[in-house]
Amino acid sequence: MGLRKAAVLAAAITLAACSAVVPVAEQTPAQSAEVVQPVATAILVANTTPTAAPVSRSSPVGPATFVYEGELTQGGWLRGRAPEGTVTADLDGQNLVLDDEGRFFAAFDRDLGSQAVLTAQLRDGRTVESPVAIAPREWNIERVNVARRSGGITDAFWKIREPELKRINAARGVDADSSGWAQDFIWPAKGRISGRFGSQRIYRGEPGSYHSGIDIAPGNGVPFVAPADGIVTLAASGFSLEGNLLIIDHGQGLNSAFLHMSRIAVREGEKVNQGQYIGNIGSSGRATGPHLHWSLKWRDARLDPLLFTGPMN
Ligand SMILES: [Zn+2]
Repeated sequence: MGLRKAAVLAAAITLAACSAVVPVAEQTPAQSAEVVQPVATAILVANTTPTAAPVSRSSPVGPATFVYEGELTQGGWLRGRAPEGTVTADLDGQNLVLDDEGRFFAAFDRDLGSQAVLTAQLRDGRTVESPVAIAPREWNIERVNVARRSGGITDAFWKIREPELKRINAARGVDADSSGWAQDFIWPAKGRISGRFGSQRIYRGEPGSYHSGIDIAPGNGVPFVAPADGIVTLAASGFSLEGNLLIIDHGQGLNSAFLHMSRIAVREGEKVNQGQYIGNIGSSGRATGPHLHWSLKWRDARLDPLLFTGPMN
């Protein structure tokens, strides 16, 4: 447990640790049900009948309880609809943004435990709770008999790094008005996957940061596209670790970051559409070779892009 906590703390320091990328063996994400109705819906107040209603965009009346589907596993996500009459809703205390039809997005951190709980406060004063079972995953953990590099960072480096982190955090804190979150994501580029989400090295018992995204390596200069609609919240050049860095907000607290680019083709504030060319792959910042590091976050939860796109064809 201490190990996991340390890993989270370490991972929180940097947006991504491509420098710590390790050759990763094949790793299959846990399969999860395509459509999952809440298994155990607890209505905390008596005299209501829990009935599962299908998600329907046209239905004027919402469901009686939460309905949702998605990848219900660590690093995964769900899209759902809140019960009719919902005033506020949350996942484990994290507020959910509901659109006009009560639809929302939520996601599960790599290190989340075996259950998350959706809660809705209804207009009539009732509370609806819906536990979501989260399938665990087997991460690629490599134990190496060498000391972990650089325990701390120098004052000189922090002077450079601190303003970079401020810009990254500010960009990731933006709640843009985009419905990219509701789309089926596409691969920004296709090619060899040189690093997978969640993999981690342990140095003589001391965990390094886990890999916070997926690395795609089709070659230097290869153009890539937006995996879903969004708003560009950061287009930064020459960051110390990330190099040329792009952050795109997909709405509802979900955002993508693209690292090590050779060229950025969009500007901050620009609206981008799924499939639109947004830049070129490179090796800027701390990268051992040209690749696109793509990471996805929902609020503070780090997510596996592979669970949004499905396998590369
Ligand atoms: Zn990476």
